[in-house]
Amino acid sequence: MNRRPFIKKLLATSGATLLASNISMLYSCVASENNKKLGIALVGLGYYSKNQLAPSLLETKHCYLSAIVTGTKEKEAVWAEKYNIKKENIYNYQNFDDIINNDDIDIVYIVLPNSMHAEYTLRAAKAGKHVICEKPMATSAADCRKMIAACNAANVILSIGYRLHFDPLNGYMMELGQNKIFGDLNIESGFGFSLKDPSKWRLQKSLSGGGPLMDLGIYALQAAIYMFGELPLSLWAKDTTIDKDFFHEKDIEGSLEWEMTFPSGKALCKTTYEEGLYNYIIANTQKGELKLAPSFLYDGLKGQTPEGKINIKDVNQQALQMDAFALNIIDDTKSSVPGEMGLRDLYLIEKIYESASNNSKPMELDDIPNILDLRKTKK
Ligand code: NAD
Repeated sequence: MNRRPFIKKLLATSGATLLASNISMLYSCVASENNKKLGIALVGLGYYSKNQLAPSLLETKHCYLSAIVTGTKEKEAVWAEKYNIKKENIYNYQNFDDIINNDDIDIVYIVLPNSMHAEYTLRAAKAGKHVICEKPMATSAADCRKMIAACNAANVILSIGYRLHFDPLNGYMMELGQNKIFGDLNIESGFGFSLKDPSKWRLQKSLSGGGPLMDLGIYALQAAIYMFGELPLSLWAKDTTIDKDFFHEKDIEGSLEWEMTFPSGKALCKTTYEEGLYNYIIANTQKGELKLAPSFLYDGLKGQTPEGKINIKDVNQQALQMDAFALNIIDDTKSSVPGEMGLRDLYLIEKIYESASNNSKPMELDDIPNILDLRKTKK
């Protein structure tokens, strides 16, 4: 643990002009010295906050739900009572920036529609708060770059809500794939469900940034990269939308398939809002099939190798993800799912859309933003 030297370093380097972000970081450190949990403010109290993140924050060891940001007045009292949130820790989208003066908030967790992620990350960074931003990080790579720059300038840590990096079953698949335990592999991965309600923000491009690729396909994209532990060299994509009248009128895809070529194999991925629920990672290896299906849900994941069933129990993915981030702040370590990973994925998503709109023209990927160590597992 390196907290004391870090506090000393922070005080020494900031001199008389302590920035808000430094004060927040200092507070985080002092809090951890006292074994105090870091406070998280959830921004946006929709499905994911209500059903996954808030309940998980009752199970975390290093952070807790200290504040909420909501535009719906009726939710305030309900959440305050259920999670014991102080009145002064309830914000709306207008007075959100006042969190700068609130020491109960160390981390802002942005759980809003995709196109709002960039604005709220910038505002949170300006208030000197560390940020977890839900996937997809933003609706363009350009916005991702602005978010990274803002967090770097404010000296706060930015990470993305890629919960499956904290799931032991997905972790085991990474280990088997990256280390070629069953020999060379080719990957198939997909995530889809049915969604055709036009009132949902996921079907409104100004809020979603795109169709199922932004929302669900991003999991298959991630899986392909973490199964190989490599970056793709090229890709091609095909818009496979069935109900073109409905989806193309909204300027989004209803279904999409793409193939990526990696240094050591290929990945065939698909996503949809036009079929019933599917989600899987299949690695066809020299020794047989390595499979995780379902692969991307919160629990109930099922894995098997050519040698039989994988026996790993479900965990609370979100609790582990948020605790890991709290420890990044406390111990001054890097997030394993940083903003740079979100940027990389948005860069690839833009290439996938470009290839699909050019009639599946293959795209070389020679300038992928990559400052990450892709190999999560040791040989
Ligand atoms: P949701 O629609 O249930 O909730 C969105 C929240 O944003 C609501 O509270 C809504 O009131 C608020 N909001 C503020 N301004 C809005 C506007 N202009 N239009 C619509 N809503 C507005 O959505 P969700 O499923 O909770 O998704 C939120 C984010 O979380 C998305 O980025 C999504 O990709 C992500 N998510 C991640 C996971 C995961 O497993 N990591 C799972 C679900 C959702």
